[in-house]
Amino acid sequence: MKPLQMVDTKTQYFKIKPEVDAAVMEVMESSMFIGGKVVNDFADNLAKYHGSKHCIPCANGTDALQIAMMALGLQPGDEVITPSFTYIATVEVAALLHIKPIFAEVNPQTFCIDPEAIEKAITPKTKAIIPVHLYGHAADMEKIMAIAAKHHLFVIEDNAQAIGCDYTFSDGMVKKTGTIGHIGCTSFYPSKNLGAFGDGGAMFTDDDELAARLRMIASHGQSKRYYHDVVGCNSRLDAIQAAILNIKLKHLDEYISARRKAAGFYDRAFAGNKSITVPFRDGNNKHVFHQYTLLLHGVDRDGLHKFLADEGVPSMIYYPVPAHRQKMFDAFGGSDFQLPVTDWLTERVISLPIHTELDEEQQQFIVDKVLAFLNK
Ligand SMILES: *Cc1c(COP(=O)(O)O)cnc(C)c1O
Repeated sequence: MKPLQMVDTKTQYFKIKPEVDAAVMEVMESSMFIGGKVVNDFADNLAKYHGSKHCIPCANGTDALQIAMMALGLQPGDEVITPSFTYIATVEVAALLHIKPIFAEVNPQTFCIDPEAIEKAITPKTKAIIPVHLYGHAADMEKIMAIAAKHHLFVIEDNAQAIGCDYTFSDGMVKKTGTIGHIGCTSFYPSKNLGAFGDGGAMFTDDDELAARLRMIASHGQSKRYYHDVVGCNSRLDAIQAAILNIKLKHLDEYISARRKAAGFYDRAFAGNKSITVPFRDGNNKHVFHQYTLLLHGVDRDGLHKFLADEGVPSMIYYPVPAHRQKMFDAFGGSDFQLPVTDWLTERVISLPIHTELDEEQQQFIVDKVLAFLNK
């Protein structure tokens, strides 16, 4: 059996190595390392894949979120409503811009921000809602967009974990996550579903003016070369990453199918086990399984994590400390937020290996070890 890993980007690379290597060589021979045709082509292809009018590449997913908040004109003292049950980047950039994160509770089934909790968190200072499509399952975007419209709020989707996820509205309209809010943000961190061989990120919008502003801010606030209209930053996707991503994008749907197939195997293997809740799949959602995360009931979670490690099975806790309890947010009154569902989930989740290269022999081994611990 191949050794088990949380992700296996190496085997994935070797399957498309000739194509990737040729694309990288081409960039090196052209010596066009920043910007240029390769980056523009990738942005066009990714916009097309998403059915989005504009795709603006940038240096990473964290920058994408920051630039989105800057482009929407959010000011120090404004409030944004976000989940606490997320990767820190979602909320850190708000704090960096002196915008106050207001942590809202998540739905215990989807792990995504709860629309009712959003409505309760709205104040006159609220400017935006930042749903996170956690683990690859979309937040309840139909309700979130309705709340945003009613209260004149912006929506920035953190789509770092859900690229390629289809979300179906009640009228049958299907959209990719990341193209539903005013701006969608994603990451090409190597372990993400569309991973580069380094850092990368992108922003999506259908709004021409907003697209121009995002582009300008990502490029030192420059409207034309050496004319700087607003304070921006330096956030670029480099051409080598774009060349690699352009090739991997052609395989993205195949990668998603492989993840969904692996998730299906786990679902069947754990079905009916009273100690485990397998990931919820809402009917309006095509879960892309960035993570396969179990919810444990009456199980020593940290004991299971250690047992699995001793048996050669990696597992991860995403995330052991929710954002509102991070020291970083002490100054923002983070621990004043009462988020019992978030706390409850934080103590009970465990993520098993899931990636495009898992085979059934490996999965059966993982399942057997999990069940062995539960039956001890
Ligand atoms: C990975 C991730 C980010 C940040 O992306 P980077 O490219 O690492 O900066 C933001 N939000 C979520 C939910 C993520 O998973």
